[in-house]
Amino acid sequence: MKSDIQCLISAGPTREWIDPVRFISNPSSGKMGYALAQSARKLGMEVILVSGPVSLNAPEGVTRIMVETAEEMNDVMLRQFHNSQLTIMSAAVCDHRPKTTLMHKLKKSLQLPHLELVPNPDILENLGKIKKRSQILVGFAAETENHLVNAKAKIEKKNLDWIALNDVSSEDQGFQSDFNTITMLSNDNKKVILEQNTKFFLADKILEIVSA
Ligand code: C5P
Repeated sequence: MKSDIQCLISAGPTREWIDPVRFISNPSSGKMGYALAQSARKLGMEVILVSGPVSLNAPEGVTRIMVETAEEMNDVMLRQFHNSQLTIMSAAVCDHRPKTTLMHKLKKSLQLPHLELVPNPDILENLGKIKKRSQILVGFAAETENHLVNAKAKIEKKNLDWIALNDVSSEDQGFQSDFNTITMLSNDNKKVILEQNTKFFLADKILEIVSA
């Protein structure tokens, strides 16, 4: 049992509001992150799940904190990070947000609206900057090309211990699917290929690998 371990997991998309009724987001279902939270709990860890808007119930015994925007997720993750021995950032964070959120609904007009975007904080990179040696930090990489090269660069840039690389270019796995195929890469060049399986099965395996 790993009951003395506190595990922090992010899941789901973020929403970046344009006006009170419209937002920028992505099709992340949160299934991978929720499966990881359930697996960590099964191992006896104390689990905090920081979740963007999804339609899933919190796994039993897991403390869930709901957020909407990347900035909110960044604040909560930074606040919770210090107490966490194992942190897994599986959320699909929007890289950009509208520069301003309008107070009132944007009216349909002849003139097309101009949407100015600004970068969101890179949460994982922020966590990597303050990570202590005793903490394990795991990221996800949803790549459509140059998978391995990009994932290795991300390990360095974001100071990760492990990255879980999944190919989202195929329709029968990834984002909204119950299935995934994952390659785990470590900062000391370990590589573990996890063949296509359910996200629940893969979550157990990922937890086994990163907490070994
Ligand atoms: O650089 P890229 O967005 O591909 O990196 C993916 C990893 O970084 C994921 O673990 C994701 O949760 C995290 N991320 C983040 N903040 C962002 C963008 C991505 O924490 N703004």
